[in-house]
Amino acid sequence: MSTKLQSLLETQAWVLADGALGTNLFSMGLKQGDPPETWNTAHPEKIISLHKAMIEAGADIILTNSFGGTRNRLKLHPGLEDQCFAINKRAAELAHQAIKESGKESVVVAGSMGPTGDLYEPIGPLSIAEGAKAFAEQAQGLAAGGADVLWLETLSSLEEIQAAIQGAETTELPFVVTVSFDSNGKTMMGLSPTEFADWVRGLSKKPIAFGANCGSGTPDLAASLLAIGKQNQPDILVAKSNAGIPQYKDGEFVFSGTPEHMARYAVLMRDMGAKIIGGCCGTSPEHLKAMRDALERSPKGETPSLETIVAELGSLNLAKADKASRESRRGRRA
Ligand SMILES: [Zn+2]
Repeated sequence: MSTKLQSLLETQAWVLADGALGTNLFSMGLKQGDPPETWNTAHPEKIISLHKAMIEAGADIILTNSFGGTRNRLKLHPGLEDQCFAINKRAAELAHQAIKESGKESVVVAGSMGPTGDLYEPIGPLSIAEGAKAFAEQAQGLAAGGADVLWLETLSSLEEIQAAIQGAETTELPFVVTVSFDSNGKTMMGLSPTEFADWVRGLSKKPIAFGANCGSGTPDLAASLLAIGKQNQPDILVAKSNAGIPQYKDGEFVFSGTPEHMARYAVLMRDMGAKIIGGCCGTSPEHLKAMRDALERSPKGETPSLETIVAELGSLNLAKADKASRESRRGRRA
């Protein structure tokens, strides 16, 4: 089965995924604490306009406004959980509408699926089967709305990844898995990039692509990708870093990365072997445009070493960004 994403991957040297939804929606008036998914019905025109801005900036893949769209997460807001299927279906429909209006029919709609917010047994209350059920409902809504691929992101434990994959597999859609390594080079649940990569490579039905997203800044994301990719495997790797480090200021998260910084990051990720490159929290259409321009302008270079990454992007942030990053993710995609 050749999907829309597969044909992009076969015909392009690199594929640009989009930037943040949450951060940009806050700048468009979304209130801290309000679920971004409610805007799928309350302000569909704003969601469409943000998608169109990302497409205009050069995104080949756009992620739907459904990151927090599992029933478990929606139930924090009375009345929303029973709209789970509809919210996710609508999210995919709005992305398609934006593509139609922009006239770039090759753009891929990726159905975003983020953590349920609950931890898994034995540490937390959720069994893998319960997690899978929650993800399945979301996946089916996204599929009904026409998502081309399911995008399982910001995950942090093998149990959570298994649940998300099982949920995704209740549809016919291919899926992508990305993990957030934001705690001293590991996920907050202690999963390392190599453990994650080895586990994925052992799956009978593998994701179409896998890698890292969000996290503690571009140098750290680069380091985790270096660890994931070093085994010289033909994997399709994803790099979707935050635009710098989240810092909590005056009631909101702000990100330190400039468009120029994200442009350097994008080129280094490409040279390192990432095939799908994008931004996570803090990445605006302006950042994305700078990334696309830089990728188009600069010929492919040698695989950078960790020393080159640090020289170009700055030193590893590791623990210093832990707390802010965790708070940012635990709340909402910021
Ligand atoms: Zn993020």
